[in-house]
Amino acid sequence: MSSIDPPAASPPKRSATRAIGPGDIVSSGLCIGCGACVAHGPAGAQMRLDRYGQFKPHGPKDWRMADPDFERLCPFSPLAPNEDELAGERFAGASHMDRRIGRFEAAYVGHVAETGFRMDGSSGGLVSWVAVELLRTGIVDGIVHAAPTDGGGSADGYFKYRISRSEREIRAGAKSRYHPVELSGVIAEMRARPGRYAVVGIPCMIKALHLAGRVDPLLAQRVTLTLGLFCGHMKSLRLVESFAWQMGVRPETVRGVDYRLKRPDQPANWYVAELSLGDGGRRRRYWWDMADGDWGAGFFQNQACDFCDDVVAETADISFGDAWVEPYSSDGRGTNVVIVRTGELNALLRAGTAEGRLELAEVDADFVARTQAAGLRHRREGLAYRLQRFRGPVLPRKRVEPGDKGLSARRKLIYAMRRQIGRWSHRVFRLARLTRWPGLYLGWARAALSLYHGLAYGRGWLGSLLDRLGWSGMEGRDP
Ligand SMILES: Cc1cc2nc3c(=O)[nH]c(=O)nc-3n(C[C@H](O)[C@H](O)[C@H](O)COP(=O)(O)OP(=O)(O)OC[C@H]3O[C@@H](n4cnc5c(N)ncnc54)[C@H](O)[C@@H]3O)c2cc1C
Ligand code: SF4
Ligand code: SF4
Repeated sequence: MSSIDPPAASPPKRSATRAIGPGDIVSSGLCIGCGACVAHGPAGAQMRLDRYGQFKPHGPKDWRMADPDFERLCPFSPLAPNEDELAGERFAGASHMDRRIGRFEAAYVGHVAETGFRMDGSSGGLVSWVAVELLRTGIVDGIVHAAPTDGGGSADGYFKYRISRSEREIRAGAKSRYHPVELSGVIAEMRARPGRYAVVGIPCMIKALHLAGRVDPLLAQRVTLTLGLFCGHMKSLRLVESFAWQMGVRPETVRGVDYRLKRPDQPANWYVAELSLGDGGRRRRYWWDMADGDWGAGFFQNQACDFCDDVVAETADISFGDAWVEPYSSDGRGTNVVIVRTGELNALLRAGTAEGRLELAEVDADFVARTQAAGLRHRREGLAYRLQRFRGPVLPRKRVEPGDKGLSARRKLIYAMRRQIGRWSHRVFRLARLTRWPGLYLGWARAALSLYHGLAYGRGWLGSLLDRLGWSGMEGRDP
């Protein structure tokens, strides 16, 4: 079963007379593959990578069709509390509330000054620093985060969630993984082993954990802190395989991936991907030099991301992103923006700054929103447009009303094209993989990208034509 093709036999239809189950969310294209339902599912339920390299729940048919607990714990269930409701409960006394970034105590821009963290991190190294500090000060007993698998590969994935219990382990897990990971295994581990855990995750995973905690008090008691990562969207496992093709190596020989090699002498937003190979070799290439390397075009995007309205992990105790505004985007050493939602964590950041271990300056909500302008636009006006056109058994309940008021024809086309690139990249890549014909996918991807660039940035013949016709509504900058 996948989010793209409905299951062959008896597709679950949403009925007013029964509870919804994981199958309904999957067939509606709304499953992000978090694994929360499997962690609370019956014996035999498990998460598996589908044909497109995305996690999906599997298990007994009656469970997939209907499960009363599921309705309340799936982050895409329309019957579960939304981010505003969860954050309202968790951060009732927060000093600020902003409709773009949610409730918060304070926000900062900066990086880690203490040696190593910034160079080893994808951005300013703050996630790993906070995680180490939480462990060092005994605030938690373990950090749950995505780390490289031992001997992983194109069949099982290169990263998975694990629990780190030492500074060495946490630091070895640094860096952003634009790669599917799921929570079912670590939820089982946290339930089995008493302790206080801090979980690092993208917004939907953090939301899933809070929802799961509402039906599972033991889990709620053990997950004592959540560290959110801002999120543009999630890629499938196939992005790594496509990078391998474009770097002239066979995907089976890839043993590890660094999505963002740190290059202090170059702008932070000139992403370079590095693949480590089984023979000890390495290959590198700029993202923008690859057919599917424009993040904003949506190649290999999980379909559920088109119906997500949380960019900055509004339900996490603290969340981290990149400062995608000048002068920070040009600083290849990497700079974070941080949103802190509890007094305890704000005190931790302030102490780190006072001791010279962090270099942070306080900023306001407008600053944070500017760093995520493209992501917020895509998940506010873009989401409204997509919701208006949504067809599926389960209608997602979002904090954005469906509609296209004020959207130019060109902007609508940009949103529609991103969605189609996301959907078709999975399918065309699969065909290219089955026929062992990389050129099929790469040719398609280059053509799709040049159309997208014409529409979104006015490049090439299409861009000139649209400009001459006076079709405004271009993208301000790459996300
Ligand atoms: C899918 C995805 C999309 C993102 N989109 C945006 C965006 O649009 N805008 C933006 O500003 N920032 C985005 N980020 C966040 C950004 O890439 C950095 O992760 C963030 O700025 C923290 O950098 P750092 O140097 O402080 O973290 P580091 O010190 O490098 O530590 C990163 C920590 O996060 C953990 N981690 C990495 N990936 C995952 C994952 N997938 N699931 C769970 N844990 C993980 C690592 O194990 C490590 O503990 C995204 C991250 C991801 C994973
Ligand atoms: S989004 Fe998560 S909880 Fe919902 S169906 Fe998918 S794996 Fe299960
Ligand atoms: S865009 Fe939303 S749904 Fe998609 S991975 Fe990010 S947080 Fe999850």
